[in-house]
Amino acid sequence: MRENVCATYLEADEIPTSWYNIQADLPVQLPPPLDPTTLKPVDPTLLQRIFSKELVAQEMSTERFIKIPDEVIDAYLALPRPTPLYRARRLEKFLKTPAEIYLKCENYSPTGSHKTNTALAQAYYNKKQGIERLATETGAGQWGTALAMSSNFFDLKCQIYMVSASYYQKPGRKIIAQLYGAEMFPSPSNQTEFGKKLLKENPNNPGTLGIAITEAIEDTLAHENTRYSLGSVLNHVLMHQTIIGLEAKKQFEKIDVQPDIVCGCIGGGSNYAGFCFPFMTDKLKGKTSTEFVACESKAVPHTTRGTYTYDYGDTGKMTPLLKMLTIGHDYKCPPVHAGGLRYHGMAPLLSYLLNNGYAKSVAYNQIEVFKAAEILAKTEGLITAPETAHSIKFVIDKALECKKTNKKCVIAMNYSGHGLLDLSAYEQYLNKKLIEYEPEKIVVPVFKPQT
Ligand SMILES: *Cc1c(COP(=O)(O)O)cnc(C)c1O
Repeated sequence: MRENVCATYLEADEIPTSWYNIQADLPVQLPPPLDPTTLKPVDPTLLQRIFSKELVAQEMSTERFIKIPDEVIDAYLALPRPTPLYRARRLEKFLKTPAEIYLKCENYSPTGSHKTNTALAQAYYNKKQGIERLATETGAGQWGTALAMSSNFFDLKCQIYMVSASYYQKPGRKIIAQLYGAEMFPSPSNQTEFGKKLLKENPNNPGTLGIAITEAIEDTLAHENTRYSLGSVLNHVLMHQTIIGLEAKKQFEKIDVQPDIVCGCIGGGSNYAGFCFPFMTDKLKGKTSTEFVACESKAVPHTTRGTYTYDYGDTGKMTPLLKMLTIGHDYKCPPVHAGGLRYHGMAPLLSYLLNNGYAKSVAYNQIEVFKAAEILAKTEGLITAPETAHSIKFVIDKALECKKTNKKCVIAMNYSGHGLLDLSAYEQYLNKKLIEYEPEKIVVPVFKPQT
């Protein structure tokens, strides 16, 4: 056997056949979502008007493993999955670190990120129920392209509200989604009452993810055979993403290695949760000292400076309230921030784990994040999504710490996506145009649950 092997693969018939539902192993039940108008625990039939029935059932389920339908497995195999586990030996050598650095390669998906893992599952369940059309929002467009591709595969129409600033300034992913057959609108749009109201106040409103979510939900409620689809945050989305961690666990077993640190970046929390939950089971039982570290942006410090409280998922207050770490549904991240990870809240499951000390989080400014991405480009050739690069920054710091203390340590990171469509952000970095930004004050409104 050769010594310097970098990639560990799984055969097609080694692909996991069930998703892992961490709700089965939590010491408590998560606080329920609240109805946006009454602030009482939400009636599941209301949720079924927004999401397909099977997805609502998965959202609430406490079954430990949920079987992946054959049609979805076939779609995973065609992405293709399983994705490799990659050892970044050249980065290790450059850093002269005794640490071992492993990346789980979600960048190999056709749309360039992990998001297809849940998009395919969601499209499948909606189609199976007889739904004809999906509505969703997208920021920079990763989610939009993933859902557009998946809708097309399962023969569904797809309507996407894309944050206006991205729609006009970074049209790459808009074009890709259109190529897959999706209908794209800049948000705020003239397609919804909420959008029309905002455009009347300010025709140049650049939009936010929170506004686009409100529009997609209003669209869903206005069209009988349409359902809404969300690319992160919710329990069922995180569960679909556990295909990543389940594969990685098998790959580590294959090479007889145990990660000491499991890390990743967090926007709404889905890629990191999907990677770390299968490793978290032992931590919940107190059986491992593995460290779990989530990396975010100082411009959107939702877990490092947020409050664990009930909040809306959108600006227009149409979504149910979720108990989560949040910096407030009205939070506005300025356009100077190029690093992504802009959502105001954090997935309730990850919020619970962070709030109870099972995982911790760190925040970085965008210049140090792009610097880390530059090191990875020069050593491994990889062009990293700005979101993913937040975690590269953590990995490099940790590896240098190991060098100082001369400690061997196995670092496992989810490489959530490539940055080949984010070159304007890299151009700003190279031309020293990026500015650091941190909000001074964060005010989170308080909503009290009614019984
Ligand atoms: C969407 C995205 C993220 C952030 O979303 P999560 O739900 O936190 O995973 C991170 N990395 C990439 C490449 C993405 O496309």
